[in-house]
Amino acid sequence: MTIGIDDLPIRDELRGKSPYGAPQLDVPVQLNTNENPYELPAELVARIAERVADAARTLNRYPDRDAVELRTELAAYLTRTGKHPVARENVWAANGSNEVIQQLLQTFGGPGRTAIGFEPSYSMHALISRGTGTGWISGPRREDFTIDTEAAERAIADHAPDVVFITSPNNPTGTAVDAETVLALYEAAQAAKPSLVIVDEAYVEFSHRDSLLPLIEGRPHMVISRTMSKAFGAAGLRLGYLAAHPAVVDAVQLVRLPYHLSAVTQATALAALEHTDTLLGYVEQLKAERDRLVTELRAIGYEVTESDANFIQFGKFEDSHTAWQKILDHGVLVRDNGVPGRLRVTAGTPAENDAFLEAVRALKKEQH
Ligand code: PMP
Repeated sequence: MTIGIDDLPIRDELRGKSPYGAPQLDVPVQLNTNENPYELPAELVARIAERVADAARTLNRYPDRDAVELRTELAAYLTRTGKHPVARENVWAANGSNEVIQQLLQTFGGPGRTAIGFEPSYSMHALISRGTGTGWISGPRREDFTIDTEAAERAIADHAPDVVFITSPNNPTGTAVDAETVLALYEAAQAAKPSLVIVDEAYVEFSHRDSLLPLIEGRPHMVISRTMSKAFGAAGLRLGYLAAHPAVVDAVQLVRLPYHLSAVTQATALAALEHTDTLLGYVEQLKAERDRLVTELRAIGYEVTESDANFIQFGKFEDSHTAWQKILDHGVLVRDNGVPGRLRVTAGTPAENDAFLEAVRALKKEQH
């Protein structure tokens, strides 16, 4: 007899569900998970080896539980780029921003509590909510994928959620949210509950707009979530972080596992931060490639959602899954996020983007 997940005594709310799963297929051009396509520069690889060797000598000991040096450097990075001074006390780090979000939901969500996001948006917000026993509320978006402030305020007032997610730039649509909307939703969330507002800025370095970081000033229930997976080109490192009032940083320590950030992770992240300027140099190239893709996709005849991220949502397709497969038949992997009639492509190297454009040009010809 074969035993499957549902034969096990798992929690009822996990029964029949599937795990988060962007396909990891071995194809020549992978433009499906919003990674940075450039490998790390040799000087940085050498520096990581040096820092990790240093850390290795004392792996007999637990790492710095509070990641003090790393949080200090992350605070310096945010201060330099975010137009708002933050200190180590404002910053917390974990294994990817997914873990940051999980810790926030363990602290501010949980059984009997709810979280809201404005969908389509990053699917892990709903999945981590489920994993932490937090009820999920799907909030509205306009047809053009922007947030309708009044409709969102109404949804917050109606449901009085404990946690509000605002993703800017949004994944998978690329849509940025302006500060006025975020402030209006923060006010609505405070009036309704009060609740924690998480602004997920995983892609903000690619945006035409400034970070919303300054909004944390005087707003102790506002959290900015960031990651080194995208702009820093370090998805394999697993390092995410948040900026908020120091009380929020104290609060997440109630749920974090002791020594959650390994000494190897801390050493590697510190080495990467020493090379911030080189790494962010790629961001400018990727923004230029993103803009080129938008122009070319429109010239071919596709409908493109305005993007502030390192990826683009495009369509429309009668059947997005068939379109996804046809693009894959050309050796190019893009993402079907389940948004009807749309697909998402990550900006890659110029050669990868050319291969993608060739594939979607061929697809367009076929459709006519
Ligand atoms: N937030 C958003 C909006 C994302 O798209 C992603 C990654 N796809 C993450 C958070 C999580 O990234 P990580 O855990 O690698 O920091």
